[in-house]
Amino acid sequence: MKTVIVGAGAMGSTFGGLLYEAGVDVYLLDIWAEHIHAINRDGLWLEGVSGDRSIPLKAFTQTGEIGPADLVIVFVKATHTQDAARGMGSLMKDESVVLTLQNGLGNQESIEGVLGKGRVLIGITSAGALLIGPGRIRHTGWGDIYLGEPEGPVSPRAKAVAQVLSKTGLSVQTSDNAQGLVWTKLLVNATLNAPATLMRVRNGEIARNEACRSFALKVLDECLRVAKAKGIKLLYPDMEQEFLAICQNTAPNLNSMYQDILAKRQTEIDYINGALVREGEALGVEAPLNRAIASLIKGLEATSSVRAD
Ligand code: NAD
Repeated sequence: MKTVIVGAGAMGSTFGGLLYEAGVDVYLLDIWAEHIHAINRDGLWLEGVSGDRSIPLKAFTQTGEIGPADLVIVFVKATHTQDAARGMGSLMKDESVVLTLQNGLGNQESIEGVLGKGRVLIGITSAGALLIGPGRIRHTGWGDIYLGEPEGPVSPRAKAVAQVLSKTGLSVQTSDNAQGLVWTKLLVNATLNAPATLMRVRNGEIARNEACRSFALKVLDECLRVAKAKGIKLLYPDMEQEFLAICQNTAPNLNSMYQDILAKRQTEIDYINGALVREGEALGVEAPLNRAIASLIKGLEATSSVRAD
């Protein structure tokens, strides 16, 4: 299965490296020229839980040189999905499949808006990775992948993609409730990332500290009302218990939104809490906490150059 990773940052490069080592015909595509040139010159330096080594991956800044692919895995930030999809035309043939394992809501729709319906698979992953610098990535955690069709039962193509991904050593499962997967991760991200960023705490504090926990659980409650109105079947009957367990199990971590704010980068807020506000509005469910949180994070983004940290 000829595979192209679009967005070869932390996650894309990690997946690309693991697939290459498993013998998959895989190519990286990214608009960050310095990174791509470093990979072509020195190989991709991948370190961390899967070992420290250089991997001779083929990396490109233009799709034209790659040609049509069987599988395209999108790993840009949600803010760049539409742009990335616009650049993917020449990777497509009739039976090409596009998989998004990105965080947030709307990635599927952004890709379909450009490439049409019927070729996108969606899912989530609990694997972790960090960008160290051009050509250098740290694989910070193994994890699971869950994927499926956006609607309907598990298809033969979803099974085929899962089989390829399982070669990475990550545990891969297919699901006939892929929207439920994406929404379950969305709710965890919405309840943990922005609140912990605004309260300037590591994940564990959200479960441990009464003031942090009480705020986060009010946010979760609001998110649950939106998900219920949308008719989403979440993965866990008790999301509160699951959420607190995730905070405890990742206690020392600074979430990715907090890291983005500290590094003065744009966050995925519009696709997480912002998306919940929009979904709620469309369904007649108010989400004032999510609205306020999204505004505050936008304020942090907008003041990155003048803020007193
Ligand atoms: P990243 O910023 O490290 O990588 C994104 C890459 O996309 C960058 O290298 C950037 O140059 C590239 N890019 C931007 N626009 C592009 C375009 N138009 N075409 C091609 N490439 C383009 O991000 P990441 O941490 O790898 O995260 C990717 C996605 O995976 C996000 O949705 C994130 O929330 C999700 N995710 C991340 C982790 C993690 O541990 N890092 C874990 C699970 C999910």
